[in-house]
Amino acid sequence: MAYSWGFYAHKKINSEAVYALPAPLNTFYEKYSGDIELHAADPDKRRYVDSTEAPHHFIDIDHYGGRAIDEIPRYWTAAVKKYSADTLNRYGTLPWSVLQWEEKLTLAFKKMDAAEILKASSYLGHYVADAHVPLHTVTNYNGQKTEQQGIHALWESFIPQNFGSSYQYAGIKAVYIKDPEAKIWEIIRHSYLLAPSVLQAERETRTAFKGRDIYLDTLHKKFTPAYIDAFNNALNGMVEKQIESSVADVASFWYTAWVNSGQPDPANIK
Ligand SMILES: [Zn+2]
Repeated sequence: MAYSWGFYAHKKINSEAVYALPAPLNTFYEKYSGDIELHAADPDKRRYVDSTEAPHHFIDIDHYGGRAIDEIPRYWTAAVKKYSADTLNRYGTLPWSVLQWEEKLTLAFKKMDAAEILKASSYLGHYVADAHVPLHTVTNYNGQKTEQQGIHALWESFIPQNFGSSYQYAGIKAVYIKDPEAKIWEIIRHSYLLAPSVLQAERETRTAFKGRDIYLDTLHKKFTPAYIDAFNNALNGMVEKQIESSVADVASFWYTAWVNSGQPDPANIK
């Protein structure tokens, strides 16, 4: 699987997360908000030049069975022992990518290295956001098993592009995450439990559109504006909610790394 929130959503999530940070950390991120936004989709671009990058963006929970969400070992070493590294790399390593970058960001704050902090923040923000996409947690990630091809981009790119400008981000605040491992799995569990509703909403929309055009361009699965609109209505605000919780969680993972690094004064980070 090789998808991700569209560029629009990744940029929006990382840039809104900057405004959810408390003082004094916000001064550092606000100073570099252009970089944070600009590099939000770098991990997606990297997939084209680095074949080991793709699995960082997803985890196919259902590959491991119907009750896997409760059975996959939370720790990487235990998961490797149970399934092998090869299998984990094939079916996605998203939760562990988040935890790895959380550590890298903590270390970058300890070193007070601005360039490293910015890179780690962009990557961490990207993966935390990807964990909020329901179709990043299932093998039927693009509706390919249920004749719903194109649903992936429909949910994570077309809806945010068409409706994102009306989303509200006021009042979102970063909070300290006591247990980052529990937190990322909680996010993934929520996304995974939403996946059947995503597929169901699209199925209902398709049925309602019988006899009407779904695609502007069938080959490239470009959907008509009316279809995007109808699917968005069927989802009942789900994409907006997931984008807003992405913003809160990205800010919280950044903030937590800073706290755990010993809260260095942002004014001294060079
Ligand atoms: Zn991605």
